[in-house]
Amino acid sequence: VLKGNGPGVLPPMLEQYVHLRDQHPDYLVLFQVGDFFETFGEDAERLSRLLGITLTHKTSKDFSTPMAGIPVRAKDQHIERLLAAGVRVAVAEQMELPLSGLVERRVTELLTPGTLTDERLLSAEENYLAAVASGDGYALALLDLSTGEFRCAAFGTRGALYDELARYRAREVLLAPEFEENAALMADFRQRFPLMVSRGSFEEDAAREELQHTLGSVPESLVTSALVRACGAALAYARATQQGRLEMVTRLIRYEPGASLHLPESAIRALELFEPNAHGGQTLIACLAHTRTAGGRRRLRAWLRSPLLDELSIRSRLDAVDALVQASDLRGGVRSVLYRAHDLERLAARVSSRRAMPKEVVSLARTLELLPELEVLLAGHDGVLGHLGARLSALPEVVMLIRAALVDNPPLRLGEGGLIREGFHAELDALRAEALAGREWMAELEARERARTGLPVKVGFNNVAGYYLEVTQAHAHKVPADYRQIATLKDRARFTRADVREREREIARCETAAERLEVEAFTELRDTLAQHTEALSEVAGALSELDVLSTLADIAFARGWSRPRTLGAGATELRLRQARHPVVELALSDSFVPNDADLDTTRRVLLLTGPNMAGKSTYLRTVALCALLHQIGSFVPADAAELPLFDGIHTRIGASDDLAGGRSTFMVEMSELAAILHGATSRSLVILDEVGRGTSTLDGLAIAWATLEHLHRTGAFALFATHYFELTRLEGELPGVVNLHVAAQEEAGALTFYHQVVPGAAKSSYGVEVARLAGLPGAVTARAGQLLTGLAARDGGDSGVVQELAALDLARLTPLQALELLHAWQRRLAEGNMGENLSQDARAAS
Ligand code: ADP
Repeated sequence: VLKGNGPGVLPPMLEQYVHLRDQHPDYLVLFQVGDFFETFGEDAERLSRLLGITLTHKTSKDFSTPMAGIPVRAKDQHIERLLAAGVRVAVAEQMELPLSGLVERRVTELLTPGTLTDERLLSAEENYLAAVASGDGYALALLDLSTGEFRCAAFGTRGALYDELARYRAREVLLAPEFEENAALMADFRQRFPLMVSRGSFEEDAAREELQHTLGSVPESLVTSALVRACGAALAYARATQQGRLEMVTRLIRYEPGASLHLPESAIRALELFEPNAHGGQTLIACLAHTRTAGGRRRLRAWLRSPLLDELSIRSRLDAVDALVQASDLRGGVRSVLYRAHDLERLAARVSSRRAMPKEVVSLARTLELLPELEVLLAGHDGVLGHLGARLSALPEVVMLIRAALVDNPPLRLGEGGLIREGFHAELDALRAEALAGREWMAELEARERARTGLPVKVGFNNVAGYYLEVTQAHAHKVPADYRQIATLKDRARFTRADVREREREIARCETAAERLEVEAFTELRDTLAQHTEALSEVAGALSELDVLSTLADIAFARGWSRPRTLGAGATELRLRQARHPVVELALSDSFVPNDADLDTTRRVLLLTGPNMAGKSTYLRTVALCALLHQIGSFVPADAAELPLFDGIHTRIGASDDLAGGRSTFMVEMSELAAILHGATSRSLVILDEVGRGTSTLDGLAIAWATLEHLHRTGAFALFATHYFELTRLEGELPGVVNLHVAAQEEAGALTFYHQVVPGAAKSSYGVEVARLAGLPGAVTARAGQLLTGLAARDGGDSGVVQELAALDLARLTPLQALELLHAWQRRLAEGNMGENLSQDARAAS
């Protein structure tokens, strides 16, 4: 361990490093040494491991420590990787040129995964910091500094809290100190969110002060001390990383987690909304993400995360999408305007926190200038579109401010000058004119001197001498008396003159003053713009929403989706005609086979059988995705649809391994199943695929059976894909359970899939045929076929005996006949004994 042990123990530079490192205990300090950012000691080992870079040693007389570094110019890309690995980074830069002695260094940036605001380090997606406190359940604060979005909610159970953290994909979680006392909970947290648990300060009084400071008051919606502490902690942590600038956060939204469709994290995963389950797979978001703006993309993700529950909101979104589908001019117009828009949400956040650079401010103006076009396009529409039109008010005063002050194409950085428009600032104009006059005087100096002296005088410039007059040595003795020699080169001599010096100083003075004025004027502009933060966020929000609606319309139009009929509260029907899985269809294009789905009170539980690879999962997901799309207000991939309002969509699909969590597949499956059985109500849609697969056949069957019965009792709409044929006999026993299967045909040992869902149970699982298709050796599949026949024969034999027994009329049987029958049956059972037969077969085969 690298320690500062007082003067003389470490070289001074390392002493400085250790000092900065100890001041930032939760951070990896990147310490600038010339063209590199270095780390030392165990941090060097860590860095080299994380980035796969070479570990060297810093060695002096009697001292050596590991050292690893990254080039200054590659800083961003390496920091990005460190953040992705959950590492917090402190950048310590040199504050002066390293001429001699120890250089001053200062921490200029604190970067953590959940508090990024720098566009170069951010993805276009949302980036949440979370803070959790407990007391009367759990309080959660979520803060996205890149847009200024700040929200909070209270949860009754830990499960609900975990779901929410996963739904929002929190990049970093601050845990209140009370959690540290609970070792089991801490372990649980670290297992679920391994990279992101950070320390925060959750003291209530400090939290109140922080809220007061940032928002102007402690919002009344923060009714518990846990909520106050969570929100305050998030702000305080964020403030520390932002050098105190938190102006992008202007309001807090207290939301009700139950106010949107219940979509547990397992369903988000199973339906592959944001993340594919298999490597290289496609997601729903990718299939929908034709948004034109980054804000629109984030908004679409938010809608998918929190689908609506109430009929009215769904209908009004559907109306808006419908109008955009119908009117191709409107749709095309809106889309082409949005195409030119910048990420207004993030621009607004950067302006308000005084980080925006000149180019970004101009982008802001450019985007605002598009609004009148949208207003015209949306004028005369009612409902959501009309409302959006009104919210997209142009903010002409903001545009005017920016356009009057800034040139159209300002330089990238602030200190370079040339960003303030001429005519904006009289004093600046005067300074610029004077500088220009000076430069012109310099430009004409050569011609003037040549005329005056008759010598071939040249005017030059370098950084050391400034402007100079130059002649060849041959002419050096002929120069006028007012020339003062400043340098002698091999074949030339350089001179200066008092008035040249004077002019030069004058130019430099004007230029420096002008630059300073430009920065001042720009800063003032930014401050003025910051006063419009609320209006800007409002417009940005409307723009994002319009983007999502027009994207949904565009997709509906291009892919032939149709408007679902929303069945009001209490409806117990679901009808889909020729429905398609939006993602699979896209991959297969024309070869996708659409299917119908019908659920109502007489068909509440659909039991789907059929061979592997027949399309069972796809069918299940199709129904779930249509229901989900409907409740975000989208058209659905079907020819016609009538959908009820679900309160939740629960799914358990496939045997996805929770490798990172280290839990066994079966354990994961069962805990997800438990959550579903606890969470599903009579208004839920439940999709279960191959429940019980992770354990032995009998256990699995028993669990699947009991699950199905339980779901049947809750009254939920359920679709159940299974390979347990025994379950199919529940049709007829439990009212509302209906068998379906996916058509497939076996012909000459080959299996043809039709992907068509038809009534009735499948006749066999075709497992052996699928194994053959998958390329299992012929000998293995042949033997499997043989075993299967044996099993079936035994099954047949047993049930033959039972049937005979059942049909027996005991009244007409003598004791002797009964004894003979018993004897015969016993023999038949013994002959049919599969174990015997098969092992005999096996001996014969070998
Ligand atoms: P199962 O769940 O029965 O094992 P899947 O639903 O995983 O089968 O489907 C297997 C493959 O069959 C899919 O990857 C897809 O390519 C294809 N498929 C499924 N459903 C259809 C369909 N309706 N039309 C065309 N191809 C389909």
